[in-house]
Amino acid sequence: MSQAMGLKAKLGLNVFIADQDPHIRIKPGQEADPRLKKAIIVCPAGLYSENPEGTVVLSIDGCLECGTCLLVCGSEVLEWNYPGGGTGVQYRFG
Ligand code: SF4
Repeated sequence: MSQAMGLKAKLGLNVFIADQDPHIRIKPGQEADPRLKKAIIVCPAGLYSENPEGTVVLSIDGCLECGTCLLVCGSEVLEWNYPGGGTGVQYRFG
């Protein structure tokens, strides 16, 4: 009998190779912009969080390259690029 895998278990199968240069950045001076708080809610990998000072921080390892954060926050606050060749996410389960 097989059991269905949950989302976290499926994401755990992905391989992520970090690029030396982060492919997504919060633009300097935009860390306190309220638009960034939407990324905390929508990022499927949970990479955005709020620090004790109330500003949003991004930890890029594990990014799924879905582009959702750019869509909801906008290019005024995020610099978004795909990672360099040979780096980034490698999907293992669909
Ligand atoms: S591209 Fe997707 S997975 Fe990567 S940080 Fe943005 S919302 Fe999260």
